[in-house]
Amino acid sequence: MREFSFLIASAVGSAAVAAAARWFPTVRARLRALRLGAPPPSLLDRIDAIVCDCDGVLFAHGTALPGVPEAVGALRRAGKRLLFVTNSATQSRRSLCAKLSALGYGGVLEADCITSASATAGYLHAHYPHVRTAYCVGEQGLLDELALVGIRASGPADTGGMQALVDERFADAPPGEVDAVVVGLQMERLCYARLAKASAYARDRSRPFIATNLDENWPAGVGVVLPAGGACVRFVAYAAERAPDVNVGKPSRELARLLVRLYALDPRRTLMVGDRCNTDVAFGRSVGMRTLLVLSGCHTLADALNGPAECFPDFVLPSLDDLAAHHCPQAAA
Ligand SMILES: [Mg+2]
Repeated sequence: MREFSFLIASAVGSAAVAAAARWFPTVRARLRALRLGAPPPSLLDRIDAIVCDCDGVLFAHGTALPGVPEAVGALRRAGKRLLFVTNSATQSRRSLCAKLSALGYGGVLEADCITSASATAGYLHAHYPHVRTAYCVGEQGLLDELALVGIRASGPADTGGMQALVDERFADAPPGEVDAVVVGLQMERLCYARLAKASAYARDRSRPFIATNLDENWPAGVGVVLPAGGACVRFVAYAAERAPDVNVGKPSRELARLLVRLYALDPRRTLMVGDRCNTDVAFGRSVGMRTLLVLSGCHTLADALNGPAECFPDFVLPSLDDLAAHHCPQAAA
């Protein structure tokens, strides 16, 4: 009889656990929705600096998002310091600054821009000072930033496929000519030879293997999100049977701490604005910043509600334009 009672109790317990597991995500999302919303009117009174992600917040595929250049101007006139931090490794600080200016974002300084390319160059320079050459999967912005810290990047010459590797006798290449492997998003002329070489070099675990960022996708402005830097990193890591030593880009806490130190920010008086929960929101939260998810890029309200706690934003708005419109309308004039 005792065994029978135990079996009944176990069955009921298992059913309860299974039901709880089934309903937990829905209950959690509804509870979160109750405390998620627009920032309170007094928020900007307590904010000195706004750290803006770029893709999906300021622009999408080379076009400024409607009303956002004016919003950034209004926030600046309201006395807020604006910093621009992007996980894009295709941009150098200089090219990002030029792009923002060309899109109508006035008063942007190169010194107020950080890209994952510049962060990667800074990281290599600080942590691996012996590195003089790096094999790169990435665009010109990454190569330019590496050059500024004295690192010669190879890779752009590799534009072929398997036959190019055979013709070059790559398998016979002498070791030691590459000190590190750096992988980020490459959109143009990405080919098998470049990915294969990066993977082959990364298989030697004595070489640092650096990921500029791990973003899965980005809002390309073509109706669907497209593969981002993390997709290139995954290719190389999978083939090399090795994870990157470090992800330099958001949500790296080290990058967040560097940002705080570099610009003397008080995290409690800083607002991180982004369109991705697992990079921008997690990045801001890692050092105690307030976080605002804008729905003008990658992630949706459902993504925020159903994601892990460390990626849950303090506030959600449709666009950065809404922050300025609601909180500093006098400055928007
Ligand atoms: Mg973004």
